[in-house]
Amino acid sequence: MRKALVTGASRGIGEAVALQLQNEGYQVYTPTHVELDLEDAMSIDAFCKKYSDITFDVLVNNAGINDIHMVEDITEQEMLSMMHINLLAPIRLIRGTVPNMKKQQYGRIVNIGSIWGVAGKAGRTVYAATKHGIHGVTQTLAVELAPYNILINTICPGYTLTALTRKNNTEEQIQEISSCIPMGRMAEPEEQAKAICFLAGEGNTYITGQQITVDGGYTSL
Ligand code: NDP
Repeated sequence: MRKALVTGASRGIGEAVALQLQNEGYQVYTPTHVELDLEDAMSIDAFCKKYSDITFDVLVNNAGINDIHMVEDITEQEMLSMMHINLLAPIRLIRGTVPNMKKQQYGRIVNIGSIWGVAGKAGRTVYAATKHGIHGVTQTLAVELAPYNILINTICPGYTLTALTRKNNTEEQIQEISSCIPMGRMAEPEEQAKAICFLAGEGNTYITGQQITVDGGYTSL
């Protein structure tokens, strides 16, 4: 049975990904915040050590946070937290899981970026830095890992109806933004999961190093 590790699966996009992979027959590992604190390098290293006997076929680096502030109001703490959770944790998890993928000559990794790693929006300086950064990780590792049949891609979600979106937008703002999206609505988490699970699946045999935006046409305007 193929094994998948999905971060941030307690809700939102990660939960939808974990459910879809389960429905496709994967054994899915969805560590809680307590079992795997992505802000803490020691927690990640301990997790990788604990599961070093398991070969994950799939890694979905989904967990992410987004604190929105104009540049003069950015705090040191939020800068560090976003860097750790959104950018460094995926690298640490890949570092910990790739040796076994290499041994079995198979792996599929999907990193979750954002439309704010494709286009700019005020207040997202650090978030955008992490999301641009994660695609740099994807492109570099696509080259490094292709000889081992390990494919790695970035999915950049557009506005998706999750707790994160509801934290950063009022219901009124959600309606207003939806009217600016060519599809006329925000995405459901399951719509992001479909794209993520395709790239994470055995059906993906040749796509690697790509950044695919799933935004209902928003960044095409
Ligand atoms: P949510 O806020 O709904 O969920 C975030 C998940 O990340 C939760 O499961 C949370 O766990 C987990 N998490 C946060 N911090 C940590 C940590 N320190 N250690 C372990 N787990 C942690 O996010 P979304 O589903 O909306 O977003 C998922 C991804 O998609 C993110 O990378 C986000 O940047 C990206 N994205 C989302 C968009 C959107 O519109 N929603 C748009 C563009 C990109 P817990 O419940 O324990 O806190």
